[in-house]
Amino acid sequence: MTARKRRGAGTDTGADTGPESVSEPWRDPMPPGFRWPDGVRAAACFTFDVDAESPIVVDRPAAADWLDVLTHQAYGPRTGVPRLLRLLDRRAIRATFFVPGWVAERWPDALRSIRDAGHEIGCHGYMHEGSRGATADEEAARLDRALAALESVLGVRPGGYRAPMWEVSRSLPELLAERGFAYDSSLMDADHPYRLAVTREGPGPEPATIVELPVQWALDDWEAYAYLPGITGSGWIARPSELEKRWRAELDALVDEGGLFVLTNHPFLSGRASRVAALGLLMKRARATEGLWIATCGEIAAWTASLELEPVEQRPIELPPER
Ligand SMILES: [Zn+2]
Repeated sequence: MTARKRRGAGTDTGADTGPESVSEPWRDPMPPGFRWPDGVRAAACFTFDVDAESPIVVDRPAAADWLDVLTHQAYGPRTGVPRLLRLLDRRAIRATFFVPGWVAERWPDALRSIRDAGHEIGCHGYMHEGSRGATADEEAARLDRALAALESVLGVRPGGYRAPMWEVSRSLPELLAERGFAYDSSLMDADHPYRLAVTREGPGPEPATIVELPVQWALDDWEAYAYLPGITGSGWIARPSELEKRWRAELDALVDEGGLFVLTNHPFLSGRASRVAALGLLMKRARATEGLWIATCGEIAAWTASLELEPVEQRPIELPPER
């Protein structure tokens, strides 16, 4: 910890009604004190959210009887996962797969094949429940149920969490820290990993922290590929080559700036043949990029945790008084 004012600590403006200001932005893509390992100029994580049927049936229990919809989702663990594992093997890339506990229980063989191929397993809720409107107790119960399922089916205690729909409540980071999670990968305010302060007091004078590996919607395949009539998507479906071009532009730019590229794909979407081919081209380019560290989220989080970074506090928003 340096003598600098803690980031996010705010500035007293002296005004009675104005919001407390958030401290200065990062002037560099890297936060103070951050560096990559020697010889590394940027990093990339290829991540897969193995949602299967969970996001559909959690919102629409009636869909449990809709075979068309169910098979659209089952394509992920049944067909997409084996094809993606073959691709990752060809490219010699270890990826991170975020899994709802319920999906592990429903598709144990598919999930064990991911684990047995040496990829990282992260937690993605129990039934892909959104955070909006949930109490902290409800969120805690879902986390515990998800962890129990992943332990039971896979014998894995995940070090990482990704929020379903990337919905993160103010309570969640503390709940993650209490359960020993090393990192989260759901927030969107940076191009590099950082230390996130959680709300409870840490064991020492510093707040307890987890590592955050930020994501962004443009590096997610859902909006570009998903289409289920009446459920999700507009009917416009991206051409894989166009999506690969968009992702490549972000990869190249983040490499130039020394950032972290976190790509999020869903096996039920990006496990389709032409999409795997396009993803393979992106991976090939990443592999050929000098100084790019391609790693699991857990590896990036462990590196980040080893640095003496100032914790970032996500301070409460003060709404202006009504007029
Ligand atoms: Zn998901």
